[in-house]
Amino acid sequence: MEYLLDYPVKALIEPEKYKCTVEWRHGKFITDEPREIGGKDEGPDPHTLLLSSVATCTLATLRMYIDRKGWDIPDMAVAVNMYHETKDGKSVTVIDRDLNFFTPVTDEQRERLVHIAKVCPISKMLEGEVQVRAFAYSDHSSLDKHTYTNEEITVEWNPGLCRHAGRCATQLPQVFNPAEKPWINMDGATTREIREQVARCPTGALKIAK
Ligand code: SF4
Repeated sequence: MEYLLDYPVKALIEPEKYKCTVEWRHGKFITDEPREIGGKDEGPDPHTLLLSSVATCTLATLRMYIDRKGWDIPDMAVAVNMYHETKDGKSVTVIDRDLNFFTPVTDEQRERLVHIAKVCPISKMLEGEVQVRAFAYSDHSSLDKHTYTNEEITVEWNPGLCRHAGRCATQLPQVFNPAEKPWINMDGATTREIREQVARCPTGALKIAK
């Protein structure tokens, strides 16, 4: 099993309702909830993020297809929304996309583009079988952090958060080797490689100490 993203999406919430900071591979952004449910509406809410994913995947997939075909369709937009309904006693979520092309397209092109939109990677994933799992770790060993240093950085390892999934040991074994003592060898790779690997730790067990 290999995760799709090289770096997991990490999100953090503090006591302030309900602002979250989401870290992605090149930066951070804020999410929030609408005022009517107690947030401050300072960022997109989770439903908006989900629909944004559908919208942007649709557009990027269409762009690739149109460019490959050499069609003259420079600009296009999509509006996405969803509703829930109960069908035969089962709760069903329906996501609708309205595609808007700002230049004329033929009936044949329109039909093809709707088909391509339906098979964009995020649509295919949502229409397939999706499992959303959760694992929990608690930072009960904050006094038991181990640190490893080279001349430039210090890596902090918190065994209480380590899932022992071995991702670090598989991807950068010259640094992370559980068979050795100490198990982190800061001379085994460049500082940049170590930083990148630390960022891939799915549980936050590895951190760059501030
Ligand atoms: S990647 Fe993180 S959680 Fe996985 S084994 Fe390494 S330190 Fe532990």
